[in-house]
Amino acid sequence: MKYFAFFGLLFSAYISAQTPILLDTLNLSQRKALHDKYTKKTEVFLSGLGAQCSKQELKKVKSILTEEYDDIKKEINKNSLIVDSPLNQYLDALLANIREKNPNSPEIYLMISREFETNALNIGEGTIIINNYLLSNLDNEDQLVFVICHEIAHQSLNHVFSSVLNFVKKENSNEMKGKVKELKRKKYNNKVEAENLLKDIVYKNSKEQRKKESEADSLGYVYYSRLGRNKQQPVKTLENLKNSDYEGDSLKVADYKRMFSTSGLNFKEEWFKMDDYSIYHYKKSTRFNTDSLKTHPNIEDRIATLKKSFPESLDKKDPTPVTASATFDQWHNNAMHQNVYNEYISEHYGNSLYEALKLYNRKPTPFLKKMIGQNFQKLYEAQKAYRLNRYVSQVDVNDHTNSFNLFCTFINNLKLDDFKAFADTFSKE
Ligand SMILES: [Zn+2]
Repeated sequence: MKYFAFFGLLFSAYISAQTPILLDTLNLSQRKALHDKYTKKTEVFLSGLGAQCSKQELKKVKSILTEEYDDIKKEINKNSLIVDSPLNQYLDALLANIREKNPNSPEIYLMISREFETNALNIGEGTIIINNYLLSNLDNEDQLVFVICHEIAHQSLNHVFSSVLNFVKKENSNEMKGKVKELKRKKYNNKVEAENLLKDIVYKNSKEQRKKESEADSLGYVYYSRLGRNKQQPVKTLENLKNSDYEGDSLKVADYKRMFSTSGLNFKEEWFKMDDYSIYHYKKSTRFNTDSLKTHPNIEDRIATLKKSFPESLDKKDPTPVTASATFDQWHNNAMHQNVYNEYISEHYGNSLYEALKLYNRKPTPFLKKMIGQNFQKLYEAQKAYRLNRYVSQVDVNDHTNSFNLFCTFINNLKLDDFKAFADTFSKE
């Protein structure tokens, strides 16, 4: 359910030198407790639905929502969601303050996701999920508070339910049936993929969906403006979104050379040699992700709509200073390191290694060195079992940046002994 919120990537230049505070995984009984709690919550929510549509539509809506909730339960079992951590306490305090100043807003349960994406979402049954990674892309606490306000607004406006109902109504229309047919013929081999694609189109790219985003911006702004915070920060948050398709950091061959020279490893130029096909396509690739379905709704339009709705606040500078919060700074600075750890425990060893190397290149720390060593060890084991491609992509000119393609080239050119040498060297204290 990624369709209802999307917040952009903004590269953060500041890298914390301190030891990161790691948000660790839930143990089995904690996961079971969360799973049970969530199951109960969704059951209560589903049983309260009705009235707004026909019996048949309601049945279909419930089945779609149940699927979405099952996905959340899978995330819980996979340890992708974080509750009861010190970061949760901080976010809960911000949430409590918003609700105190906005007594008509709905009750909200907040969880943190380890997903490596600049995103926050409302599930529609009263839950908001904030991705840890989002924090690295926000400049200050005010922006974080606006993100929470925006997600509460989606809940207040019941956007998830109405989107799903809208989808159910549309799904049976001839226009949509034609689209599915066309998609299947053109590109997609199986029915499920075509239907998922259709869901994406309906949810994310439709006019209604863009309208919902602006509605959530506006109501979110109303909530936000009651908090006495800097009135320009919501617009700043949206402006940050515009950079969300760009990777903020990169690694060149010279960077690898420098990092590995200090580790005492024998650097080999041939590691970075691409095959002819890759070289030919290499220069064309500049964007992190060119998948048009992932393009977020037009941010410029959202900013313009927001400004038009609140000219009295947004046409001039606000003298209220941006909130200074040491707690925000701490979690902001922690987020990229936490992300390296999150990707590691999610078994995305290639991503974890790449993110760790980028941070290590800017500022080597014992934590990053350890994570680099552990990731190389996992990739060594994968290579030994002929399963490296599960963890590291091939060069992909359409989906990756030059920097990530160079990383993929490097990893795919390593021999088994090289992986072991890297793992051992970086694992040394
Ligand atoms: Zn949204």
